[in-house]
Amino acid sequence: MAAQILDGTATAKQIRADLAERVAELKSRRGLVPRLAVILVGDDPASVTYTRMKKRACEAAGMISDLIVMPADSTQDFVKDTIAQLNTDPMVHGIMVQHPVPSHLDELDILSTVAVEKDVDGISAMSLGKLVLGTADYTSCTPQGIVTLLEKYNIPIKGAEAVVVGRSIILGKPAALALLERHATVTICHSRTKNLADVVRRADIVVAALGRAEYIKGDWIKKGAVVIDAGYNKVEGRDKDVGDVEFEAAAERAGWITPVPGGVGPMTIAMLLTHTVKAAEKYG
Ligand code: NAP
Repeated sequence: MAAQILDGTATAKQIRADLAERVAELKSRRGLVPRLAVILVGDDPASVTYTRMKKRACEAAGMISDLIVMPADSTQDFVKDTIAQLNTDPMVHGIMVQHPVPSHLDELDILSTVAVEKDVDGISAMSLGKLVLGTADYTSCTPQGIVTLLEKYNIPIKGAEAVVVGRSIILGKPAALALLERHATVTICHSRTKNLADVVRRADIVVAALGRAEYIKGDWIKKGAVVIDAGYNKVEGRDKDVGDVEFEAAAERAGWITPVPGGVGPMTIAMLLTHTVKAAEKYG
C-alpha cells in the first residue's frame, strides 16, 4: 500500500481530549456544563446506535447529553413543539435531530425549527444559508470532520481540484461548500453525472459520499491524490462494513486515504461535541 492513512480515530481522540479540558475550564470558570439534546424519532436500529454513541461521547468529555426518544408516529407539531421548548431552555446549548426522521414527517421543516445558535449539526435552512454566505457558526458535522481531518494532516486545500461525489444536504453539498470556502476548485457529482470515472481522475482531493459499496474504483484515483471515503455500507456476506471506495486498490495509487471504519465516522462525533462546546462558550 502506497498511501498514508488519515487516521480519524486517533485525530478524533485528540480532539475529544482537548475538548474535555475546555469543558473542565467552563465548569470551573463559569459553572457551565455544555449540554446537547439529541432527538430520536422512532427506533431505526442504526439511529439508536448512533444516538447512544453520541451520548456516551458527550459524557466521556464531561458534558451532559439528553437523548429524547419520540414514538415513530409522532406528529410534525409534536416534534417541532419539543424543539421550540429546547430552543428557549438556557441550560441546553446544542440540539440535533437524528437523520432520517420517519417518512411521514417533513425533515427540513423540523431541522429548520432548531434555533441557529443551537444548530450544532448545521443543517437547518438558516445554517445552510449562512454556510453559503461563509458566515456559519457550525458546518454540518461530517463535512466539518472531513475538512478538519485534512487540516490536521496539513493537506493543502487551497487551489486543489476537489471532486465531491454525492450532493445530499447533510454531506455532499456542505462538504463541497466547506472545500470551496477554503479555496479548492470544486466539482460536485451525482447520479446523473456523465463519465464519473474521468471526473474523479482529475481530482487532487476526492470525497466519496454516495452510499454505494466500493463504487469508486482504485484505478479512478490520480496518483498521489487524497481520498476521503465518507461512505459506510453493509454488504451481505461480508463481516466488515465497507466504504464507497475500493480501498485496497485506491490505496495503491493515493497519497493519503481514510480507512472505513476509522476515518470520517469518528470525526463526525468529535465535531458534534466541538460545536456544542463552542455553543456553550459563545452563547451559554
Ligand atoms: P444520500 O442522501 O443517499 O445521497 C447520496 C448521494 O450520492 C446523492 O446525491 C446521489 O445522487 C449520489 N449518488 C448515488 N449514486 C450515485 C452514482 N452511481 N454516481 C454518482 N453519484 C451517486 O446519502 P448521504 O446521507 O449523503 O450518505 C452518503 C454515504 O455517507 C452513506 O454511505 C452514509 O452511510 C455515509 N454517511 C456517513 C457519515 C459518517 O459520519 N461517516 C455521515 C453521514 C453519511 P442524486 O442526488 O442524483 O440522487
